[in-house]
Amino acid sequence: MAGALLFTALSGAQTTSEIGLSQAEKDYLAAKRSLRVCVDPDRLPFDGVDERGQHAGLSKDYFDIFTRMLGVEMVVPKVEDWDDLMHKAKSRECDVVSQINASEERKSFLDFTSPYFYLPLAVVTRYDRIFVEESLEGAGTRFAVIKGDIAIDKLKQRYPSIDLVEVKNNIQAMELVYDGDVFGYIGAQGAVAFAIQALDLNKLAVTGSLPLRYELSVATRNDEPLLGSAFEKAVLHLDPKEGQSIRDKWIAITIEKVTDYTLLWLTLLVLGTVIIVSIYWNSRLVKANRAIRDALNDLHAAQVQLEEQNKIFKKQSITDALTGLYNRLKLDEELSCAIAQSDDTKRNFAVILLDIDYFKRMNDQCGHLIGDELLKALSSLMISTLSKGEILGRWGGEEFLIISPDTDLQTGEKLAEQLRERIAAHVFPAGKTFSVSIGVAVYQPGETADALIGRVDKALYRAKKQGRNRVEVD
Ligand code: GH3
Ligand code: MG
Ligand code: MG
Repeated sequence: MAGALLFTALSGAQTTSEIGLSQAEKDYLAAKRSLRVCVDPDRLPFDGVDERGQHAGLSKDYFDIFTRMLGVEMVVPKVEDWDDLMHKAKSRECDVVSQINASEERKSFLDFTSPYFYLPLAVVTRYDRIFVEESLEGAGTRFAVIKGDIAIDKLKQRYPSIDLVEVKNNIQAMELVYDGDVFGYIGAQGAVAFAIQALDLNKLAVTGSLPLRYELSVATRNDEPLLGSAFEKAVLHLDPKEGQSIRDKWIAITIEKVTDYTLLWLTLLVLGTVIIVSIYWNSRLVKANRAIRDALNDLHAAQVQLEEQNKIFKKQSITDALTGLYNRLKLDEELSCAIAQSDDTKRNFAVILLDIDYFKRMNDQCGHLIGDELLKALSSLMISTLSKGEILGRWGGEEFLIISPDTDLQTGEKLAEQLRERIAAHVFPAGKTFSVSIGVAVYQPGETADALIGRVDKALYRAKKQGRNRVEVD
């Protein structure tokens, strides 16, 4: 750990003395003044030149470190393409080649340092093709490679029957892939991805990588071995961390996964639509169901209310509003019933008609409201006097009718007398007292209700005539 830290601390400031250059190497470099570094102009982001012909790309960052380590100026001669570079290297117009694979043929004019950078081989195809490594083994599937690329040897060695089409540069390779003339283009991973982006070829993608790699070294002219040994020392003293940060800076390769998403999207779209529509209809159905349920509930409530209303109306239709007793209508009905029943059973029933004496005078003296109170109080008194079987109702004004079942004339008279006495003895609201006159009649089989009422009315009239506060029977 401590050793690693020490190494890191030192590495940032490495200079000629610290990388262990020999005196001969130092002298050589001092005499050299500047080195001509040849750069492949067509291999960004790894190796290249900018618009002004200056060194650019990943190798430039490494060469900044080498410049610091070796303490020598470096210049970049103009190079047309890889062929031109090779030509210039052979003719000693280059002292150094910035980034290159070693090969036996090249060793005849170049020395190679240990590799300082590795790069896997990648395959570019149209984005809708699927690359499998087996397609490199049979004839018929053609791949483009850059002419002179060291990858050619590596590929031929590993895939002896590979069908390669050698092209001049990246652009040409991409065009062949684009037009379908070749299945794919094999080149340095990162470089090919970079070219796809730079050329904006959105139909192409890196769809595979190979188990082969470029092993990139610095090459130096082999007629000046001190240059090679100095560079080898520089390469060996590279700080791995610094190398990593340079690679991170320049390489952001994505091997694009080739999948035809069209069908997937289409399926999702259809599925999504179906789901949305069914959710929509379901929610409408739920709403409609709720509305129906609410309507049914309302209907039921309305029915209940209606039944209640009917009960109330029915009761109202047979009830006298002031006293709460049966009204004239109900009394007529009860009378008919009593007649029918009596005709059936041959049992007697009596009717008792009761009229307040001088009630008009009472009203005049106390007012109509008190008169009403007296009528109500009289009703209560009569209810409490009568038994359950007897039917009591308001016949009209201050007249009341009682239908007393199973009652003969004598019993009827007795009942009437009881009533009269109680009423006459009673002290009503506001301290009022009054008397009543009463007529009694018993139903005679076969007679009409009107005839019966006529007879009881006459009896009442007689009671009035004979001085009031009395009972008269028919
Ligand atoms: P009598 O029967 O003894 O001959 O004398 P009366 O004064 O009672 O005479 P009548 O039967 O002709 O008059 C009935 C009076 O009853 C008329 C009216 O002022 C009163 N009356 C009838 N209905 C009501 C009512 O609902 N409330 C009040 N306060 N008075 C009523
Ligand atoms: Mg009257
Ligand atoms: Mg009266």
